[in-house]
Amino acid sequence: MSVKALIDKLQEQGCLTKQEFVQLFTQKTSEDIAYAAQLARSIADQYYGKNIFVRGLIEFTNYCKNDCYYCGIRRSNSKVERYRLTKEEILQCCDEGERLGFRTFVLQGGEDMTYTDEAIAELVREIKSAHPACAVTLSLGERERSSYECFFEAGADRYLLRHETADEEHYQKLHPAEMSLTHRKECLRQLKEIGFQTGCGFMVGSPYQTPETLAEDFLFIHELQPEMIGIGPFIPHQDTPFAKEPGGLLEDSLFYLSLLRIMEKHILLPATTALATIDPKGREKGILAGANVLMPNLSPVAVREKYQLYDGKVCTGDEAAQCRNCLEHRVETTGYHIVVDRGDCV
Ligand code: SAM
Repeated sequence: MSVKALIDKLQEQGCLTKQEFVQLFTQKTSEDIAYAAQLARSIADQYYGKNIFVRGLIEFTNYCKNDCYYCGIRRSNSKVERYRLTKEEILQCCDEGERLGFRTFVLQGGEDMTYTDEAIAELVREIKSAHPACAVTLSLGERERSSYECFFEAGADRYLLRHETADEEHYQKLHPAEMSLTHRKECLRQLKEIGFQTGCGFMVGSPYQTPETLAEDFLFIHELQPEMIGIGPFIPHQDTPFAKEPGGLLEDSLFYLSLLRIMEKHILLPATTALATIDPKGREKGILAGANVLMPNLSPVAVREKYQLYDGKVCTGDEAAQCRNCLEHRVETTGYHIVVDRGDCV
């Protein structure tokens, strides 16, 4: 079967076999990539029209107990100047965010157990009480089921936890032995069961990724049925074990965004900051490939440089309001527009 026929089959049947995915990834031409993008965009238009949702990203701690080999804020990186935002600082970010038209706040951080379950729950309650029209997304890593339940009861709406890779051996090459793919997948299933709009995802071009491991990612995503999928290129960080590894490619990232849209038609799919970091028009290209979400930084400018997951991260100097205006213009050049909306999954 030709690659174009496989893309059509993915649209019609909603999934492919592992072998068919591998063929897609290895035999695609630039015409196939353009074909997938066009199809993906027409599907996104059917579900979301010309609307692009924005989320205000608050990177509230860069302390992390994990030591992922790819990540700039891993615990072994002694060069990182660590910070934690106070509850008041986080609430101020949300106040400014709502003024700027954000209706979702994403609290993301390293796995920092200083924020107890009760502290997170209290924070969620305060945000929801000050901003009842807004959704709260958490991205705090792996916790106990009881912790996730506590956050959900406090009013959190969504949870992002990229699975990173769905292939066991690959997972072990990206993480130290104390971390486990089985546990990460279990967390994702629990989050879904509890009722969160749940997001998984992976890095494009992470070290040791192969067409076969990628096919496992697509199969896992199809089985999990998440509401959100976060993918972006791997970008090396100079102070990690993967400093000398090549980064993920723009063309591949765009192709996988399109395929994910074609496979899971209604999903919320961000054009990530990592995509904007490897190409000045990365966000616009991501939208044209099928993405419908942008997650600009709402963190206080003073801490942004310290949340460096990878080298060269963009938008670390801009004030939130500047980011918001810049995005508005960028999105308009694509023929789409940002809406003031919680942006739930349809
Ligand atoms: N600690 C939380 C967790 O584990 O889900 C959230 C923060 S974690 C830093 C957010 C995401 O950053 C990870 O899921 C990973 O995919 C991405 N990331 C980390 N290092 C990266 C790199 N060098 N290049 C691109 N993305 C990276």
